[in-house]
Amino acid sequence: MFDSKTLTSFLIKSSLSKYSNMKIGGNATYLLAPQTVSDLSYIVKEARTQNLEIVPVGGGSNILFGNVGNRVIILDAYLPEIFQVDHKIVIVSSNMKISSFIDKTMQHGLGGLEFISGIPAHIGGAIHMNAGAFEKCIFDYLLWIEYVDMKGNIEMIKHEDLDFGYRTTSINGYIMRAAFNLEKKSKKEILADKEDIISKRFERHPYNYPSLGSTFKNPKSKFAGQLIEECGLKGLQIGGAQISEKHANFIINVGNATFNDVFELIKIAQKTVKKQKGIELELEIKVIN
Ligand SMILES: Cc1cc2nc3c(=O)[nH]c(=O)nc-3n(C[C@H](O)[C@H](O)[C@H](O)COP(=O)(O)OP(=O)(O)OC[C@H]3O[C@@H](n4cnc5c(N)ncnc54)[C@H](O)[C@@H]3O)c2cc1C
Repeated sequence: MFDSKTLTSFLIKSSLSKYSNMKIGGNATYLLAPQTVSDLSYIVKEARTQNLEIVPVGGGSNILFGNVGNRVIILDAYLPEIFQVDHKIVIVSSNMKISSFIDKTMQHGLGGLEFISGIPAHIGGAIHMNAGAFEKCIFDYLLWIEYVDMKGNIEMIKHEDLDFGYRTTSINGYIMRAAFNLEKKSKKEILADKEDIISKRFERHPYNYPSLGSTFKNPKSKFAGQLIEECGLKGLQIGGAQISEKHANFIINVGNATFNDVFELIKIAQKTVKKQKGIELELEIKVIN
């Protein structure tokens, strides 16, 4: 059955800018949207045969697209959406938005992930990045994941068998489903916590412009934003990209920013912080170039 398929059977004709929260990106040779798990498995196997790198894309809230070359960009938009609840355990597909997940689990009197309310991510991307905030991370609630490994096989792995840390995990493959062990919590409490987190985010972060959240990881016992600010780089603009005046670890697209505009700001921030503070800033965002 696979014989009649090729990678191009799953092509989407669209600009990558539509799939990055930074609204930057051109055309890709392989921008693919599988509709089933067997499509996904086929794509991963075929990419491996052709020696092409795969790039899963969820909410695109942490991905900066440059020249993606022949990379196989895989969107989750047409994969089936799964949401199953059994007591405190929720099984969910990777393509569900964080906001929908929090709202749906709230209807079952289950909470826990409110701390990532307001981030425009999907479950799969949030797991891959071990998204976190306010001293909590998504791995605190994760039980297991099901994923397509780099050979195209479907595998399941438990939380205890995964390595993870600050915005990093050992997952190498395409996450399809995950199970979470949530907390019993009233709807009223969940709503209040969610609103509190979202209002804190709007207060601190430049939500009125496209961005990818924190550009750099915080170095040990320091804040990347504070270091950049102390180097006098707040508000620095190149083309349509700017180091946000509101939060210096955010680079925002103030209008028609290009990949090069953003990349130039990244290099300036790294170089200046290294020179003035002696600290290497490590990227948190994923640059696909
Ligand atoms: C305004 C704003 C606020 C933010 N605040 C926070 C915050 O408080 N805390 C935080 O941790 N992050 C934050 N972020 C960053 C971002 O939301 C997180 O990194 C999030 O986890 C990315 O999820 P995503 O679905 O958008 O992933 P994407 O950006 O689509 O992808 C990110 C990485 O995950 C991989 N990936 C995506 N889907 C899958 C999958 N199904 N299987 C395997 N790999 C996959 C991608 O290949 C890429 O390497 C913020 C971003 C924005 C724009």
